[in-house]
Amino acid sequence: MGALPYILDPRSVIMLAGLMGVMMALVMFFMRRSYPPSIRGLSDWARGPLVAFVSTLLFAARGFFPDFLTIVVANVVLFQACILYYSGSQKFLQGHSDTRGWTLLNGVIGLSMFWFSSVKPDFEARLLIVTLAVSLLFFAHALLYLRHRPRVFGQRLMIGLLLAQAVVAALRFVSVVMGMAGSNLMEATWIQALYISMYSISVLLLSIAVILMATDRVHTEFEYMATRDSLTGALNRRALLDACRDAFTSTSGQQHMALLMVDLDHFKGINDRFGHQMGDRVLREAVHRMQRAVGDAGLLGRYGGEEFVVLLPGVGKAEAMAVAARLKQAIDEPFAADSPMAKVGSIAVSIGVAAREDGRGVDEVLAKADAALYRAKAMGRDQVMAAA
Ligand code: GH3
Ligand code: MG
Ligand code: MG
Repeated sequence: MGALPYILDPRSVIMLAGLMGVMMALVMFFMRRSYPPSIRGLSDWARGPLVAFVSTLLFAARGFFPDFLTIVVANVVLFQACILYYSGSQKFLQGHSDTRGWTLLNGVIGLSMFWFSSVKPDFEARLLIVTLAVSLLFFAHALLYLRHRPRVFGQRLMIGLLLAQAVVAALRFVSVVMGMAGSNLMEATWIQALYISMYSISVLLLSIAVILMATDRVHTEFEYMATRDSLTGALNRRALLDACRDAFTSTSGQQHMALLMVDLDHFKGINDRFGHQMGDRVLREAVHRMQRAVGDAGLLGRYGGEEFVVLLPGVGKAEAMAVAARLKQAIDEPFAADSPMAKVGSIAVSIGVAAREDGRGVDEVLAKADAALYRAKAMGRDQVMAAA
């Protein structure tokens, strides 16, 4: 037990941790500039270690500056840094933050630090208050992530760090209760050494966890944007065709596979009569209805303009005709009287249906569905036509 505190001089370790925090803050400030604004929380996370560094300077100046600065202000600033991390996480996970309760608690911390340093000096009482508050905040912070079902490594690392911090703070609280606190922050008891080392490591690892999480989020968003049609949210043409090719090549030619080619009828007329914006709105609503009608049975993609393709894996011709009928019924439904599309009334749709036979490839089945659609249009539109 004796060697560890001796090696880890608290003052140097705290200073080093603070400097690392400043460097990580710089990294995050630069990152924020190159990340899309949809990634929330980065600026709070960048400010966190900077504010922590200020508290570090104040703590390290114990004995040189007045106690009011190195005890009262230092603790309030440190807790504020913890709150900033927490609010960054809230913004990242929920889009908004509310830390009013914790800020209020910080006010209480400030008052009690003042009381137990200037009025009735008591190092143990101060430690009890700060360690309890810090432990609670870190537990709450970890819970926030647990509630959001962590899936990626960055989030799991974050939870691990927060729990470790919470436990170490709780341990320190218990050590005070058991009379093992030492007489001041710079006294090198093993629990102090553990607390301070944990703090230093966390400054670095928290920033790394944050960067990992943000990078993963950017990756997911870009992947979404690269595969989705921006107007309707359906798969875009490339993602749709990729999915079709995958489905056809990854299964044997004997396995059922069907494609629907869907084209809205006289759509140009809707644009002409009600304007392009109304056309966009109708397109979005049509996709919404189709997605509901298809459900988990297939994949919907925008093939181009007002033309869509539905991939139905494991579905034979008869069943595909049934899905097409369901889809047509959903689109035919008149717009609600209180919807912005009410004056359009209703829209109609033509659908061509083709299924894989004799091990046909995706291009052949797609051409067949297209030909069936063409015949549906030629026969007067507003109908489902099976491939010949
Ligand atoms: P048909 O029954 O023969 O399919 O007639 P149509 O008018 O639907 O077919 P046509 O191919 O002549 O016109 C398609 C129209 O769809 C033309 C184009 O302005 C419109 N359109 C394509 N993409 C969009 C879009 O993203 N938004 C809007 N508002 N209109 C679009
Ligand atoms: Mg059309
Ligand atoms: Mg068309």
